[in-house]
Amino acid sequence: MIDFHCHLDLFKNPIDAISCADKSGAYILSVTNTPKAYPTTARLAKNCKRIRTAVGLHPQIAHLRQSELPLFDHLLDETNYVGEIGLDGGKDYSKFVEIQASVFSSILKKCAEKGGKILSIHSRHAASKVLDHLEKNPNSGTPILHWFSGSVSELNRAIDLGCWFSIGEPMLRSSKGRAHIAKMPQCRVLTETDAPFASGEDIVKSLKHTIEALGHIWNISSIETEKKLNNNLRFLVK
Ligand code: MN
Repeated sequence: MIDFHCHLDLFKNPIDAISCADKSGAYILSVTNTPKAYPTTARLAKNCKRIRTAVGLHPQIAHLRQSELPLFDHLLDETNYVGEIGLDGGKDYSKFVEIQASVFSSILKKCAEKGGKILSIHSRHAASKVLDHLEKNPNSGTPILHWFSGSVSELNRAIDLGCWFSIGEPMLRSSKGRAHIAKMPQCRVLTETDAPFASGEDIVKSLKHTIEALGHIWNISSIETEKKLNNNLRFLVK
């Protein structure tokens, strides 16, 4: 199983969460919302061979944490994974759109300087703008749009730009989400929980539901679905 977007450091008990995640046998991308959270979060998972930690700066707090950008740049040498980053155009955050854009742009440029990273990207109410940034920074790495909720034309543009997608239970519950998933290239799809936010703290249960529902859309068994997802991950991280 693969959870390519999970906030292990924000569980009620991160130490238990990481040990539980490790025992589950799932491959996990443990994303962080601030550069300052990265060292501790990475240290917790350092003996877990299937957990990778990403350094992030969440767009919803970009205006509060932009002073951590130098730390972000410094930490980029320690990991190939970046997230959670991106833009949020929701009504509580759109007033910080310029700060978000400058933070996101600075991160993408640094990633390009470092030869490209694997990026877990938030694009809520801002898919077109996120895609503009990715288009301007083609060497920033492989973008994985997490919980994509844009329009059909934004989805098509994301596919044309080579984006990957990580999908979870909330997308599978909505008919628009399922229609989007059906259009995504199957070789560029991974699963996620966004735990503890989107699907509670039981990662395994959530991933099982997600794999099963995804198999329904792809019209294949859960076993075949998992095989495809594992191949995708292998290709991505090779
Ligand atoms: Mn998240």
